Amino acid sequence: MTRDRARLILLNAALGPLDYRVPQGMTVAPGSVVVAPLGPRQLVGVVWEPERARAESVGDNRLRPLLHAYDVPPIPAALRRLIEWTSDYYLAPMGAVLRMALPSAGALEGARSITEYRATGHVPDRMTPQREQALERIGERMGLIRELAIIGGVSDGVIRGLVKAGAIEAVEVTVDDPWPVPDPDHDPPALEPAQAEAADALRRAVDAAAFAPILLDGVTGSGKTEVYFEAIAEALRQGRQTLILLPEIALTEPFLKRFAARFGCEPVAWHSGLRQSQRRRAWRAIASGEAEVVVGARSALFLPYPKLGLIVVDEAHEASFKQEDGVPYHARDVAVMRGSFEQIPVVLASATPAIETRHMAESGTYAELKLPDRYGGARLPDMKALDLLADPPPRGRWLAPELVAALEANLEAEEQSLLFLNRRGYAPLTLCRHCGYRFQCPNCTAWMVEHRFTRRLACHHCGHVMPTPQACPECRAEDSLVPCGPGVERIADEVAALFPDARTAIVTSDTIWSPAKAAEFVARMEAGEIDIVIGTQLVTKGYHFPNLTLVGVVDADLGLAGGDLRAAERTFQQIRQVSGRAGRGDKPGRVLVQTHEPGARVIQALVSGDAEGFYAAETDARREAGMPPFGRLAAIIVSSEDQAEAMETARMIGRAAPTHENMAVFGPAPAPLAMLRGRHRYRLLVHAARPVPVQDIIRDWLGALSWRASVRVSVDVDPYSF
Ligand code: ADP
Ligand code: ZN
Repeated sequence: MTRDRARLILLNAALGPLDYRVPQGMTVAPGSVVVAPLGPRQLVGVVWEPERARAESVGDNRLRPLLHAYDVPPIPAALRRLIEWTSDYYLAPMGAVLRMALPSAGALEGARSITEYRATGHVPDRMTPQREQALERIGERMGLIRELAIIGGVSDGVIRGLVKAGAIEAVEVTVDDPWPVPDPDHDPPALEPAQAEAADALRRAVDAAAFAPILLDGVTGSGKTEVYFEAIAEALRQGRQTLILLPEIALTEPFLKRFAARFGCEPVAWHSGLRQSQRRRAWRAIASGEAEVVVGARSALFLPYPKLGLIVVDEAHEASFKQEDGVPYHARDVAVMRGSFEQIPVVLASATPAIETRHMAESGTYAELKLPDRYGGARLPDMKALDLLADPPPRGRWLAPELVAALEANLEAEEQSLLFLNRRGYAPLTLCRHCGYRFQCPNCTAWMVEHRFTRRLACHHCGHVMPTPQACPECRAEDSLVPCGPGVERIADEVAALFPDARTAIVTSDTIWSPAKAAEFVARMEAGEIDIVIGTQLVTKGYHFPNLTLVGVVDADLGLAGGDLRAAERTFQQIRQVSGRAGRGDKPGRVLVQTHEPGARVIQALVSGDAEGFYAAETDARREAGMPPFGRLAAIIVSSEDQAEAMETARMIGRAAPTHENMAVFGPAPAPLAMLRGRHRYRLLVHAARPVPVQDIIRDWLGALSWRASVRVSVDVDPYSF
């Protein structure tokens, strides 16, 4: 490369690397963030090493000049390597991966302030239902016009009208305020011997500044967080940044508080719920190295930390680290790769590690630190299976007599209880008792789920909603619709009927949809204002309520149906995690697990607490079937709005499948969700032995084929369910 020529990766997934001319007076180097012309458009791009990004060669005289170089730190080399690796491994365009590293153009400009809007409290002369709704939902929140419109559930025009009417005003918000600096010695705990040993090992790993994947395997309540906080303290002393990945945005608020108690101030948060102004401020602080500790959702993984010293993936087994849309990647695995490019330790913390992670630890690829006991002598809760066939709930009810008695005793003792059911809404299926009609989503292979509080039927896959009708749309019978099976709302009804005086709370993504809502829930729990929580997997992790002593698992069989190979592992993790909420304080905890199959291996393992035995058996089964981590899988999903077109394209791809030793291609068959958001989906599954270069094979295979623009073909390497 000559000095006046630059190769760019553009933030446009469809394009390969392109060369540009660097105009006089502009200096760029690999990592520089620039603006380049493309036809009539201007695109953001990053300068890349030409030897690492193949492009068609173009004569010097045909090169167009770069338009602008942003005054932001360059994308570091380690991150550039990670982007290349991610693009290669997950078969995604570099530009699509790069996009996750960069903020919007606005943040790159580096303006010191941004104009936001907020309510003034002035009531407009002309009030419409929409205006009223918007003002009520917005409350005291601030944001861009667009952001307030989304919060208010109205169009941008309504917000602008409110600005004209004086009910909403513009305010300048500075976005370059400095961040407080966490203090490693603010309030460290006195660690127990096992904790201190693990913390020492982590501190040494941070000091060594070398790649080290470490599984921190400790039972729920053993102090994993306290232990990895010590590693963060060490990174702070070394002047290096730490990234903590958490699975749920709802978890961040209690986490931020806890972090502040230990380090004197909150870390920088990064997740999809940030306002534009917050995002801008956070990105700039991260890229400049000013943000010492960043806690975020998986998207925080690709940010340009200039001096990263440690990555922690908390609750590392969580399925939500797997991204399904856009670039389908697994944040846990990419985190480990980032650690290797950065030459730093990566801590995977979990009470129920994934089989894959466990296997890496057992085979010595990852180091392992164990915390076998709960902190402060708290015992793990006693677990008991309730046989629903032997001691069934009364007709039309879902809670078995023994669970009801336990709830009653807990209420009397003024202790808190939690009922776990991983199903939002009132009932998962609604049918007509007269003609048998079932409400199905018009866009997906899924039933419409009744949500009684909002009087709607909703599809949990595409978001399609309709008001719950009075009459059957098929046979017109009145009042003939019956809910089938329970969701959390229905359990809440049952609890209300059984214990009219009990104070209950439903915890699902419908009720806890922001960090603020999560904080409110935590505050009410801590103040003892809730007796019985009814929740989905949202309550299975992270929370610490000392007065919560009883957990009831309403339907342990739920996750086992469907029969994918990960079902038992997932069920084990979920129930272990939710049981981990019980008895975290001085009072012992108790877990009652309702099941039709008390003899199933996973239930037996849960009740006996034999995690090792369970893992060993599951691992053996995987080994025998050559399934991950012993073999590789990749799914090719072919979709189209036209079913025949999707099927034919999938067949065409199947016929062109290359033959390769130790590799088999299955399908096409209808994908697990055969229709999703109006698109028919077929799946081909590639199953291969470890050494087979699956990505190269798929790249060549699909690269030689073409299909109509209305067909989408996407590859999911290491799919979560199989
Ligand atoms: P885990 O992350 O393994 O579930 P936590 O780190 O959340 O465990 O610890 C459980 C509870 O015990 C938390 O309230 C935590 O503050 C407390 N705890 C753990 N270790 C200590 C310690 N050494 N000193 C004081 N409190 C501790
Ligand atoms: Zn749908």
